[in-house]
Amino acid sequence: MASGEVHPASEPSRWRYLDNVRTRAGPFTNDEVFDAGLVVDTMDNMKILVIGAGGLGCEILKNLALSGFKDIHVIDMDTIDISNLNRQFLFRKADVGKFKAEVAASFVERRVKGVKITPHNCKIQDFDEDFYMQFQLVVCGLDSIEARRWINATLVNMVDPEVEDSYKPLIDGGTEGFKGQSRVVLPSVTSCIECQLDMHAPRAAVPLCTIATIPRQPEHCIEWAHIIAWDQEKPFPKLDNDDPEHITWLYQKALNRAEEYGITGVTYSRTQGVVKNIIPAIASTNAIIAASCCNEALKIASNCAPSLGYPNDNYMMYSGNDSIYTYTFEHEKKDDCPVCGNLARDLEVDPRSTLQELIESMAIRPEAQLKKPSVRSESKTLYMQSPPSLEEKTRQNLDKTLTELGLGDGEEIGVTDPSFATVSFKFRLRFK
Ligand SMILES: [Zn+2]
Repeated sequence: MASGEVHPASEPSRWRYLDNVRTRAGPFTNDEVFDAGLVVDTMDNMKILVIGAGGLGCEILKNLALSGFKDIHVIDMDTIDISNLNRQFLFRKADVGKFKAEVAASFVERRVKGVKITPHNCKIQDFDEDFYMQFQLVVCGLDSIEARRWINATLVNMVDPEVEDSYKPLIDGGTEGFKGQSRVVLPSVTSCIECQLDMHAPRAAVPLCTIATIPRQPEHCIEWAHIIAWDQEKPFPKLDNDDPEHITWLYQKALNRAEEYGITGVTYSRTQGVVKNIIPAIASTNAIIAASCCNEALKIASNCAPSLGYPNDNYMMYSGNDSIYTYTFEHEKKDDCPVCGNLARDLEVDPRSTLQELIESMAIRPEAQLKKPSVRSESKTLYMQSPPSLEEKTRQNLDKTLTELGLGDGEEIGVTDPSFATVSFKFRLRFK
């Protein structure tokens, strides 16, 4: 189908099933909040924000439009790349180079009558709280943890207990290969994305000893060829991940090793994936997770059934690696969450480590994951990444140990990071 062409749908029969759900009480409706007369009106006037117009975003926009939402905004700063076309189905070859948000919005508008989609070709950080205040619901289909943490912190920060309209439910979808999750955050009421940060812990590297001595998985054999065999034999002067000859060499090596240990599953494309650290985007995973997110949006907007987060279970994980598996559970709110809690989070440190080491460790600690932290103690500024004049002034502290800086066991430090303009992370030093 050429760009611009859309198939007509038979209106209004398209909406019949949806209205059956929206206007009738059922086994899951809550009598206290369900008002059949109001639902359609409420949804017609609801403003909903979609963040991301990529693999998940295309699915989400299409699903929301077909779920009866009429006023949708979408933010995405990216332009369309030819490699997106296999799964980001709102885009055509002629759209390559154009903004994703714009193309996706106009496609769905043409396809679904009566929906208005406003695109924003920019970063979420370009908007302030006033902008986010206009929406009743936010749905995220992002691939970046940083962007998720930013919008989560912003929405939690916006909560004013006196103003009912300041609570914006956040529905978050995410996928990685055949795995995915959807979750609902009721800012300041249920556990937030920052509380759940450990679910995104940086992927643990396989210990070198496993790779060197007891491989158990095809990936271990590939890593062995990549790290050890290549170094020993140096078949080419320098490894080029894009050179098929080099990948073939690694693949053959890995295959021989796998056979030696009775391991199956080493293939050329898996070799390529491991070496280039690629996690393939799977269209069906995106479709399933987006469907789940939009289902939550419909439930929240219409009260036709209890959504995630009411009252307890707020996190649905999905795995399609080995048949199909889902598990839904309650991820609990943490009192020491830097965004929605009020207690400092314990940080185990060696008092003999330097400030530099502490700062570097913040990037990889699952509970922090801060790449450019600035640090203050209760009494003074220890290190500031910017402005340059302050950086220069505090740089000398980097080589000092925590003891030399006068920090004591149990002392609280405040950490800020440019990715979280509004948030100061509180940590309590625990000497080991
Ligand atoms: Zn939290």
